[in-house]
Amino acid sequence: MKEHEVEEKVYGMIQNQYQTQKLSHAYFIEKGNYANIEMLMKKIAKLFLCPKNGEHFNNCSTCDLIEKDIHPDFKEISPEGNMIKKEQLLNLKQLFKTTSSSNYRLYVIYEADKLNPASANTILKFLEEPEQGIIAFLIADNRYQVLETLLSRCQIINMPSLFSSDFSDEMINLLSDLTSSKKIYLDFKELLDSSFSLKESTKDLLDSMELYLHQLLLIKIGKKIPLPKQELFTNLTEDSIIKYIAILEEEKKKLTYNINYKLWLDHFLIRFMEVIS
Ligand SMILES: [Zn+2]
Repeated sequence: MKEHEVEEKVYGMIQNQYQTQKLSHAYFIEKGNYANIEMLMKKIAKLFLCPKNGEHFNNCSTCDLIEKDIHPDFKEISPEGNMIKKEQLLNLKQLFKTTSSSNYRLYVIYEADKLNPASANTILKFLEEPEQGIIAFLIADNRYQVLETLLSRCQIINMPSLFSSDFSDEMINLLSDLTSSKKIYLDFKELLDSSFSLKESTKDLLDSMELYLHQLLLIKIGKKIPLPKQELFTNLTEDSIIKYIAILEEEKKKLTYNINYKLWLDHFLIRFMEVIS
């Protein structure tokens, strides 16, 4: 499943609960490697706050305010420095005490793993005594870094499980070859040449590999995840997985530039080989 499909799926879940009036007052979104979470949150904010639920093509003052991060009923909180401070949450509470013309008010806490004990306590009280129409979204890469007391009050949406639902055998076998230093150059090239838009499909493939490696990393540190063909990677160390992920991140960025594809591919394959040797 591609990134935008995962986005649509999460959005669809929330939209369904919105339409059937079965909303939770708090959601925890375990985002894994998903990159566009801010865009997704804005889309969700429009669903709740825009008179047309964000589904229009013309200009709309509500959607405009959300896009500019200045809508009074949509508050996003990110860590200041390396933590989310208690004052940030007190400010939020103060803001949401004022009366509003909207039926809903939403707040998002990005990197909820950066809540220190004092700030977590502040938000906990907020979660325990939910007010009508206030909906919380807590976001973090994975749930194991977030305080259990917070999680237990949220409905959990796990994005990596949506991502990993359809890793192709082809990709997994290729990744297995790549990480075990087999002669894969021809395979890899053949696979890429067979597709219509070379750079685009390569990016999809690398995205998929990166997501798979992220899941593999979680397994290595003891999480139980139903990842297909994980037995092919039992010899990989945590250290090498981290190196592969870093290479994929860097090489994916290069694909967006106007590069010589053949040179890029050679370079990419050499970097992968070097991790094992
Ligand atoms: Zn709108």
